Amino acid sequence: MAVKTPAYTGRLSKDFWYPEMIKSSTADRLGISNDASREHVINLVNLCNFILQPIRNEFGILRINSGYRSPALNKAVGGSKTSQHCNGQAADFELSKISNPNLAKWIEKNLVFDQLILEFYDGVDPNSGWIHCSYVLDGSNRNKTMTALRVNGKTSYKPGLLS
Ligand SMILES: [Zn+2]
Repeated sequence: MAVKTPAYTGRLSKDFWYPEMIKSSTADRLGISNDASREHVINLVNLCNFILQPIRNEFGILRINSGYRSPALNKAVGGSKTSQHCNGQAADFELSKISNPNLAKWIEKNLVFDQLILEFYDGVDPNSGWIHCSYVLDGSNRNKTMTALRVNGKTSYKPGLLS
Protein backbone atom coordinates (compact mmCIF):
# COMPACT_ATOMS: atom_id res chain seq x y z
CA MET A 1 0.00 0.00 0.00
CA ALA A 2 1.37 3.37 -0.99
CA VAL A 3 1.81 5.75 1.89
CA LYS A 4 0.96 9.30 1.01
CA THR A 5 3.16 11.84 2.78
CA PRO A 6 0.80 13.91 4.90
CA ALA A 7 0.65 17.55 3.89
CA TYR A 8 2.57 19.93 6.12
CA THR A 9 0.13 21.86 8.28
CA GLY A 10 2.42 23.72 10.62
CA ARG A 11 3.44 27.21 11.53
CA LEU A 12 5.58 29.22 9.12
CA SER A 13 6.13 32.26 11.33
CA LYS A 14 4.59 33.64 14.52
CA ASP A 15 1.21 34.41 12.94
CA PHE A 16 1.29 32.58 9.61
CA TRP A 17 0.39 28.97 9.04
CA TYR A 18 0.89 26.77 6.01
CA PRO A 19 -2.81 26.22 5.14
CA GLU A 20 -3.31 29.97 4.73
CA MET A 21 -0.40 30.15 2.27
CA ILE A 22 -1.67 27.39 -0.04
CA LYS A 23 -5.38 28.16 0.20
CA SER A 24 -6.98 28.87 -3.16
CA SER A 25 -10.65 29.02 -4.07
CA THR A 26 -9.68 28.32 -7.69
CA ALA A 27 -7.77 25.18 -6.67
CA ASP A 28 -10.74 24.05 -4.55
CA ARG A 29 -13.21 24.71 -7.33
CA LEU A 30 -11.16 22.92 -9.99
CA GLY A 31 -9.93 20.13 -7.70
CA ILE A 32 -6.28 21.11 -8.24
CA SER A 33 -3.76 19.90 -5.66
CA ASN A 34 -1.83 22.84 -4.23
CA ASP A 35 0.66 21.30 -1.84
CA ALA A 36 4.17 22.73 -1.75
CA SER A 37 7.36 20.67 -1.80
CA ARG A 38 9.74 20.78 1.15
CA GLU A 39 11.96 23.26 -0.70
CA HIS A 40 9.00 25.52 -1.40
CA VAL A 41 7.82 25.30 2.21
CA ILE A 42 11.25 26.61 3.24
CA ASN A 43 10.75 29.52 0.82
CA LEU A 44 7.35 30.17 2.40
CA VAL A 45 8.99 30.25 5.84
CA ASN A 46 11.35 32.97 4.60
CA LEU A 47 8.56 34.88 2.89
CA CYS A 48 6.47 34.82 6.08
CA ASN A 49 9.30 35.71 8.44
CA PHE A 50 10.91 38.47 6.40
CA ILE A 51 7.92 40.02 4.58
CA LEU A 52 4.50 39.09 5.92
CA GLN A 53 5.24 38.88 9.65
CA PRO A 54 6.91 42.34 9.88
CA ILE A 55 3.86 43.82 8.09
CA ARG A 56 1.55 41.92 10.45
CA ASN A 57 3.53 43.23 13.43
CA GLU A 58 3.17 46.80 12.21
CA PHE A 59 -0.39 46.89 10.86
CA GLY A 60 -2.31 43.83 12.07
CA ILE A 61 -4.06 41.10 10.15
CA LEU A 62 -3.44 40.85 6.41
CA ARG A 63 -5.62 39.22 3.83
CA ILE A 64 -3.56 36.80 1.74
CA ASN A 65 -5.16 36.66 -1.70
CA SER A 66 -2.64 34.25 -3.16
CA GLY A 67 0.47 32.58 -1.76
CA TYR A 68 1.95 29.36 -3.10
CA ARG A 69 0.67 28.19 -6.49
CA SER A 70 1.35 24.77 -7.92
CA PRO A 71 2.14 24.90 -11.66
CA ALA A 72 -1.39 23.64 -12.43
CA LEU A 73 -3.00 26.32 -10.27
CA ASN A 74 -0.74 29.03 -11.71
CA LYS A 75 -1.84 28.02 -15.19
CA ALA A 76 -5.50 28.05 -14.12
CA VAL A 77 -5.24 31.62 -12.78
CA GLY A 78 -3.28 32.82 -15.82
CA GLY A 79 -0.10 33.53 -13.85
CA SER A 80 3.24 34.24 -15.53
CA LYS A 81 5.27 31.10 -16.36
CA THR A 82 8.16 32.38 -14.24
CA SER A 83 5.90 33.42 -11.33
CA GLN A 84 7.63 33.42 -7.95
CA HIS A 85 4.32 32.21 -6.50
CA CYS A 86 5.25 28.77 -7.93
CA ASN A 87 8.37 28.64 -5.74
CA GLY A 88 6.65 29.81 -2.57
CA GLN A 89 8.60 33.05 -2.83
CA ALA A 90 5.71 35.49 -3.42
CA ALA A 91 2.35 36.46 -2.00
CA ASP A 92 -0.45 38.82 -3.00
CA PHE A 93 -2.07 40.53 -0.06
CA GLU A 94 -3.80 43.64 1.27
CA LEU A 95 -5.10 44.99 4.53
CA SER A 96 -7.93 47.36 5.31
CA LYS A 97 -6.00 49.57 7.74
CA ILE A 98 -3.73 51.21 5.17
CA SER A 99 -4.10 52.00 1.47
CA ASN A 100 -2.19 49.81 -0.97
CA PRO A 101 0.12 52.63 -2.19
CA ASN A 102 0.99 53.55 1.40
CA LEU A 103 1.60 49.93 2.33
CA ALA A 104 3.88 49.54 -0.71
CA LYS A 105 5.83 52.64 0.36
CA TRP A 106 6.18 51.29 3.90
CA ILE A 107 7.55 47.98 2.58
CA GLU A 108 9.97 49.79 0.26
CA LYS A 109 11.29 51.84 3.16
CA ASN A 110 11.43 49.15 5.86
CA LEU A 111 11.96 45.69 4.37
CA VAL A 112 14.41 43.79 2.19
CA PHE A 113 12.51 42.14 -0.68
CA ASP A 114 13.06 40.83 -4.16
CA GLN A 115 10.14 42.29 -6.09
CA LEU A 116 7.44 44.61 -4.79
CA ILE A 117 4.58 45.36 -7.17
CA LEU A 118 1.70 47.73 -6.54
CA GLU A 119 -0.93 45.92 -8.60
CA PHE A 120 -3.93 47.59 -10.18
CA TYR A 121 -4.39 50.46 -7.76
CA ASP A 122 -6.83 52.76 -9.59
CA GLY A 123 -5.59 56.04 -8.10
CA VAL A 124 -8.99 56.71 -6.49
CA ASP A 125 -10.15 53.89 -4.20
CA PRO A 126 -7.44 53.44 -1.50
CA ASN A 127 -8.22 49.73 -1.28
CA SER A 128 -8.29 49.03 -5.00
CA GLY A 129 -5.77 46.49 -6.24
CA TRP A 130 -3.32 44.62 -4.02
CA ILE A 131 0.37 44.20 -3.21
CA HIS A 132 2.59 41.48 -4.67
CA CYS A 133 5.83 40.99 -2.78
CA SER A 134 8.53 38.34 -3.04
CA TYR A 135 11.53 37.27 -1.01
CA VAL A 136 14.35 35.05 -2.24
CA LEU A 137 17.38 33.52 -0.62
CA ASP A 138 19.08 36.03 1.64
CA GLY A 139 21.63 38.04 -0.31
CA SER A 140 19.87 37.72 -3.68
CA ASN A 141 17.03 40.14 -3.07
CA ARG A 142 16.93 42.91 -5.68
CA ASN A 143 14.63 45.42 -3.92
CA LYS A 144 12.93 46.01 -7.26
CA THR A 145 9.73 48.06 -7.25
CA MET A 146 7.10 48.17 -10.00
CA THR A 147 3.55 49.29 -10.62
CA ALA A 148 1.11 47.19 -12.62
CA LEU A 149 -1.55 49.15 -14.45
CA ARG A 150 -4.45 48.00 -16.56
CA VAL A 151 -4.76 50.22 -19.59
CA ASN A 152 -7.54 49.43 -22.08
CA GLY A 153 -7.80 45.92 -20.68
CA LYS A 154 -4.05 45.28 -21.04
CA THR A 155 -1.54 44.98 -18.20
CA SER A 156 1.54 47.16 -18.31
CA TYR A 157 4.37 47.31 -15.77
CA LYS A 158 6.11 50.58 -14.95
CA PRO A 159 9.27 50.88 -12.86
CA GLY A 160 8.91 52.30 -9.35
CA LEU A 161 5.85 52.83 -7.16
CA LEU A 162 3.38 55.14 -8.89
CA SER A 163 0.24 56.32 -7.16
ZN1 LIG B 1 1.48 37.94 -7.21
